[in-house]
Amino acid sequence: MNQRSYLDYNATAPLRLEVREAIGEALHLYGNPSSVHEEGRAARAAIEKARVKVAGLVGASPEDVIFTSGGTEANALALAAQGGQAWHCYLSAVEHPSVLAGGRFYRETTTIIPVTKDGVVDLTVLARELEKHHLGGWRPFVSLMVANNETGAIQPVAEAAAIVHGAHGLLHSDAVQAAGKVRIDLDGLGADMLSLSAHKIGGPKGVGALVLKPGVSVEPLLKGGGQERRRRAGTENVAGIVGFGIAAELAAADLVKADAIGALREALEKGVRALAPDAVILSESVERLPNTSCITVPGAKAETLVIGLDLAGVSVSAGSACSSGKVEASHVLSAMGLAPDIAQGAIRVSLGIGTTSHDIERFLGAYGELIKRLKQSPKAA
Ligand code: PLP
Repeated sequence: MNQRSYLDYNATAPLRLEVREAIGEALHLYGNPSSVHEEGRAARAAIEKARVKVAGLVGASPEDVIFTSGGTEANALALAAQGGQAWHCYLSAVEHPSVLAGGRFYRETTTIIPVTKDGVVDLTVLARELEKHHLGGWRPFVSLMVANNETGAIQPVAEAAAIVHGAHGLLHSDAVQAAGKVRIDLDGLGADMLSLSAHKIGGPKGVGALVLKPGVSVEPLLKGGGQERRRRAGTENVAGIVGFGIAAELAAADLVKADAIGALREALEKGVRALAPDAVILSESVERLPNTSCITVPGAKAETLVIGLDLAGVSVSAGSACSSGKVEASHVLSAMGLAPDIAQGAIRVSLGIGTTSHDIERFLGAYGELIKRLKQSPKAA
């Protein structure tokens, strides 16, 4: 049995062994992929092989995959695409900060679409807002994530796509958290652009992709060389991309494990309820990623829980790990209308392919102790 229980897969997934080996080999491919000689061609071939695998994870065509330095850059590239004067941008209130930053859109031409108390975007508001701007001659650019990183709540992307396309707009969807956890099919989703990140699916950090629907174009953020079909300049991160490809292939094959992960999550939540009947599990009543549980107990402080759990050998995060280090109310929980005293106790437990029932037991044992202490002496929490 492992000495520690890593339950923070939404922050990052452990590097898969096969990925590490493939990266090690790819580091020997020293040729510049843009070079025409043999060494260059070998590096190019490795990239193109990986491109096919990444495209396969989301049902896209390889030529529509643009490799980037990660999910953040993929989001920025998507949002840089249509920042011209004729466009108005709409973002759900629970998007990742890299989307909420707005790319090339100005604050005045950006509208935030609220979510319900379950953290799902309110499509009636989106439709109403689009109607308003459509009359003003704007074209809408909408960004709606496939699933939220903090609560796991799955967003109605296909329904949103129908509304957006009805208004002659474009829809970008951040699929960074959903990829490898639920099946994603670009066509079925209806999105025009999808963001992916390798490290969330067992690949290396610092690699991602923006995947386009055929015929959709982007305005490059990085200009210079002609790499990535002139859509992202810069010599490619060959080894990272190779690792991303292997991780995508493994993630696609491992989708069959989603139900087993969901059963572990169910056991965890049942255990939490037994320990703390007043616990609130966020987005519980809507469709969620099978691996994610965002739990809060009135009076608890997430920071105390995260530290206490860490000391007990369990890794989880408080709200979003992307922004951890700064302890402030998560914008996601605030957008869901959670009172600050409830939101401050929220921890995110996220499972993955390496999670076992021992990990759940270890979590429940440690969490139970911390909650008992809180109930006995509320100030200590
Ligand atoms: N989008 C979502 C939903 C995320 O959860 C994250 C990271 O946590 C990102 C984007 C950023 O991805 P990266 O870490 O590859 O920049």
